[in-house]
Amino acid sequence: MGGPKSGRWGRRTRRTTVEACLSIDAAQWQREEILQPGCSKTGVQTWTVPATGVLLASIRYEVNTRDAAYPWLELSYSLPGYTWGPGPYVRDTVDLVTTGLHFGGLRWWFRCPLVGRSGPCGRRVQKLHYYGSHFGCRQCHRLTYTSCQRAHQAERLAGRVAQIRCQIDIIQRGLASAQRRFERFTAGR
Ligand SMILES: [Zn+2]
Repeated sequence: MGGPKSGRWGRRTRRTTVEACLSIDAAQWQREEILQPGCSKTGVQTWTVPATGVLLASIRYEVNTRDAAYPWLELSYSLPGYTWGPGPYVRDTVDLVTTGLHFGGLRWWFRCPLVGRSGPCGRRVQKLHYYGSHFGCRQCHRLTYTSCQRAHQAERLAGRVAQIRCQIDIIQRGLASAQRRFERFTAGR
């Protein structure tokens, strides 16, 4: 395995889905005014089970966008348990990026902080996902989407159906041939 911040590059038989991970979303944070120019703020992001509202995990964030040339975000979380509480803490520093919108205004992005074998990732992304022990982009964590996995399952199933049809065809031809042989045999008696 790579360095302390490396993503998981090894092969996995079944890829984890994005939906199964804890994620932070730059667009959502922008709507909630966590990401905005010229400010510094701290807060706690929580994740709950939608049906029950039970707390799943929480992390502390610190956003600093006072220096427009170097806006950053620090994510702190205590492990195990994934809830913000007594240390020791894991800290991920994430660079923030803005792009101008067509009709004015800014759009905020995270820069993936993970470092892989080929060096820092640095992808500009809307979402970072928690997997392994750090936040990183979907590509670094080799995450897939549930819809994508379902499509692959459907593809595999279609392949299996075709295979079974082919086997049935062979069996039916064999039976027909045996039937003809039997008919010839009984006719000849
Ligand atoms: Zn990445």
